[in-house]
Amino acid sequence: MVQRQRIVIVGGSFGGINAACELRRQLGQQADITLISKESTFTFTPSLPWLVMGWRKPHSLQVPLVKPLKRRGIRFVHDNVDALDPEKYLISAGAGRFPYDMLLLATGAELDYAAVPGLGPETGHTQSIFNVAEAGKAHIALAEVLGRDRGRIVIGAAPGASCIGPAYELVMMIDTVLKRARKRHRFTLTYLTPEPFIGHFGIGGVGNSPRMVQDEFAFRSIEAVANARIVQAEPNRLILADGREYGFDFSLVIPAFLGSAFVRAVSGLANPKGFIPVTPGLASAKYPNIYAAGVAVAIPSPFPTTVPVGVPKTGHMTELMARAAAHNIAAEFRGRPMIDGLSLPSLCIADAGDTAFYMSADPFLPPRNKTIIRRGKWARYLKLLFERYYLARIRYRLPALAFGW
Ligand SMILES: Cc1cc2nc3c(=O)[nH]c(=O)nc-3n(C[C@H](O)[C@H](O)[C@H](O)COP(=O)(O)OP(=O)(O)OC[C@H]3O[C@@H](n4cnc5c(N)ncnc54)[C@H](O)[C@@H]3O)c2cc1C
Repeated sequence: MVQRQRIVIVGGSFGGINAACELRRQLGQQADITLISKESTFTFTPSLPWLVMGWRKPHSLQVPLVKPLKRRGIRFVHDNVDALDPEKYLISAGAGRFPYDMLLLATGAELDYAAVPGLGPETGHTQSIFNVAEAGKAHIALAEVLGRDRGRIVIGAAPGASCIGPAYELVMMIDTVLKRARKRHRFTLTYLTPEPFIGHFGIGGVGNSPRMVQDEFAFRSIEAVANARIVQAEPNRLILADGREYGFDFSLVIPAFLGSAFVRAVSGLANPKGFIPVTPGLASAKYPNIYAAGVAVAIPSPFPTTVPVGVPKTGHMTELMARAAAHNIAAEFRGRPMIDGLSLPSLCIADAGDTAFYMSADPFLPPRNKTIIRRGKWARYLKLLFERYYLARIRYRLPALAFGW
């Protein structure tokens, strides 16, 4: 009898779910697939800025994972992985030990608030947006300030941040809301970023995004400070390395990322920040039966910047990586050719409240074969529709769209 391969996936988000489904599709009943995640629900993170604005309720952007995975024949374990022994092919979590033949890590990142004293919503003075709890807390704080007659709002990103897009979205959405309330002229809006210029996004820009974002911010009277190295957050002000200070009544700052603690603890698996260097096929450079996808993967920045800025790994890229990693795991079992999972295109829609920006870059780092950037209300509707479709796709097994999603 042929022994079924044991595949363990850690991560229940864009990377983990898509990898698990693709593996099931490619390997059928030849594999036992286990997905372990410390969260029992999938959250459509691109909608978290709408939660901060109060335009969404948490339940409308979450799907419990148990049923959709069970329907696909994937075993779901709701648990926190605390150790990995790559020599013994063993994952350990609170509920027990999980031996594997192949492991796929789609563990995203931990939020490195400690890198900047005073940062973060738990022990610091700034809000954040990386999960439903943080976004809900930020919403309460923002609503209070927007209810006032005047105020100072500072949105920003810490040195080394890579997921800067939501900061752009928020600062423009807040501008839209204030204009609608006819009190924009009594609020200051400031955007502090480690990027060398606005519209850089950690990838050197997308087409003419630097010029477009500069124009957009000028029209919206948003003060932008590039090369900003935030070194401290105090109750009502942010301090930069060069001594400049920005007072605020509401501030949300995107932190830098660290890889998952258990990944950081395995010698040689990850870089000093905890992200996993991979081959073009997405296997670990050190442990060939460990694959990685999404935010967990180390992609070095090709751009020298005065203040460190990370390369973003968007949801779209994460899904493409997850499918490529799944394909390559299946290909290894079957002795078939592998595919490149690193030279990927990326597609993203940034909402601005009254309009939106559609950006696609192929590949995601320049020089590129194709770049599209468009602005319009239609892009907002597309983002809205896409959220509905994506959540339904996870719930009801709808097919993936042809362009990768
Ligand atoms: C506010 C916001 C807005 C965004 N907007 C967009 C957008 O408009 N478009 C876009 O393309 N992308 C967007 N992104 C980026 C997108 O969310 C990420 O690319 C995507 O979430 C990455 O998926 P992932 O699976 O790699 O990691 P994550 O989504 O971070 O998921 C990691 C998973 O691993 C699990 N995990 C981690 N450690 C452990 C452990 N020790 N044990 C068990 N489980 C563990 C977690 O529970 C989670 O399920 C946005 C992100 C944010 C935060």
